Amino acid sequence: NTFAEIDLGEAVNENIRRCKYVKPTPVQRHAIPISLAGRDLMACAQTGSGKTAAFCFPIISGIMRGQFPRPPRPRMAFPLALILSPTRELSCQIHDEAKKFSYQTGVRVVVAYGGAPINQQLRELERGVHILVATPGRLVDLLERARVSLQMIRYLALDEADRMLDMGFEPQIRKIVQQMDMPPPGVRQTMLFSATFPKEIQRLASDFLSSYIFLAV
Ligand code: AMP
Repeated sequence: NTFAEIDLGEAVNENIRRCKYVKPTPVQRHAIPISLAGRDLMACAQTGSGKTAAFCFPIISGIMRGQFPRPPRPRMAFPLALILSPTRELSCQIHDEAKKFSYQTGVRVVVAYGGAPINQQLRELERGVHILVATPGRLVDLLERARVSLQMIRYLALDEADRMLDMGFEPQIRKIVQQMDMPPPGVRQTMLFSATFPKEIQRLASDFLSSYIFLAV
């Protein structure tokens, strides 16, 4: 019932204390151990449930446990984790939180969203990225420009998946996930968060997740 009981590592625990989170919310209590155990996850969770931390903590902790590979090509960014979200506002919110959670861990978080000039985002990507937070349209643009590669993605989180589908992002999301199917299967861990669980989301879950755990809080 405390974060210390969950094995996230000392650096992440220190950041949790800095954020003044005393105990995990229900979605965190259930989702984090599932994710640390390496399982795929589909979680029904609303805004305000603490879902951002639920997917950020295991990603940061997992990246810290692994080795940070050096990018093969300097002009192309090779993130290890991708967090997709429907809007600029939500992406920026996730980016702000993820930066707090990864403070002094060496894990670098970059955000990329549409409706804003791409150059600043390209410069941030060139400086290196472990966790990329992005909206689907802008990420497709970056992939087409060959400025981002998804070949090294080990963690994929889809936030507010139902809203992304409502906004018509399904083709972009499928295109993005297709580019991750190059590394050996079973290497990527996927977390899908959605407030609702209609047929379209169930289809996405069965296409993108492997033997996943369904969590409703
Ligand atoms: P989210 O559902 O991720 O948008 O989070 C909603 C709000 O709850 C954010 O302001 C978080 O910083 C905060 N929050 C998340 N987890 C916790 C926690 N375990 N304890 C206290 N506040 C939290």
